[in-house]
Amino acid sequence: MRIAVYDDNRVGLVRNETLVDVSDIVSARDGEWPPVFLLRAIADFDRLRPRLTEALRSREGLPLDRVQLRAPVVFPSKVIAAPVNYRLHIEEMRSQVKNELHAIEKYGLFLKAPSSVVGPDATVELPFADRRTDHEVELGVVIGKTARNVAAVDAMNYVFGYTGVMDITVRGDEDRSTRKSFDSFTPVGPVLVTADEIPDPHALQLQLWVNGERRQNGNTRDMIWNVPRLIEYASHVMTLYPGDLFSTGTPDGVGPLRAGDQVTIDVERIGRMSVKVDLRKP
Ligand code: MN
Repeated sequence: MRIAVYDDNRVGLVRNETLVDVSDIVSARDGEWPPVFLLRAIADFDRLRPRLTEALRSREGLPLDRVQLRAPVVFPSKVIAAPVNYRLHIEEMRSQVKNELHAIEKYGLFLKAPSSVVGPDATVELPFADRRTDHEVELGVVIGKTARNVAAVDAMNYVFGYTGVMDITVRGDEDRSTRKSFDSFTPVGPVLVTADEIPDPHALQLQLWVNGERRQNGNTRDMIWNVPRLIEYASHVMTLYPGDLFSTGTPDGVGPLRAGDQVTIDVERIGRMSVKVDLRKP
């Protein structure tokens, strides 16, 4: 299934170019706080699946162009991200950073503030006019079941689905969790695709364009730590909960953003989304 969040806390399933509203089935409510409807739906998905399948078969769909898509990851307890998880990205970083650069084996993982998540058609707000802020396109992995001390061989059983992620990053000396956690620095979408529709997450093309010019074009087969290894490592540090989001690292081609840019990502089998870029208003 291809799950979308849209308008005000509504949940839909994509069917061709339409969206079938299933907000009633997942008990999503307008203005809900905390907005945990999607976390509940993910945790309860096995029980909900027959009703969702029936809705997808029998209900009328809304034209997709009549709704405002939101991030299909809402209120995750954590956004866990992988630094330098592609070999070619290490090489390009080495040319920009004076000190010695290592891969993920040395750094482990880092956290981004969940409040940095935004959806399709959001505006990425650059906090500094005079500092380089880069785009990164990444595969997003969403956890489906509470996971602690999971071995890599079992890890895929804990994956709920996949989405597209931009990991926006201010370059500089602050800790990664600061430089990557500004509001709007984690665009996610356009939809959340359940794991049964993507049998191999390590064979997906990742592309990113700025103003129509392609800047990144990589494949998830080139990850240094694959999805099971990322889950194994993280779950030995922290308990993973349904809805937690992994951003699995970026391929090479990372480059700067400027106010006025439009950034588009395409993750194979997940889809395409665009965001605007502007300076943050004082
Ligand atoms: Mn990244």
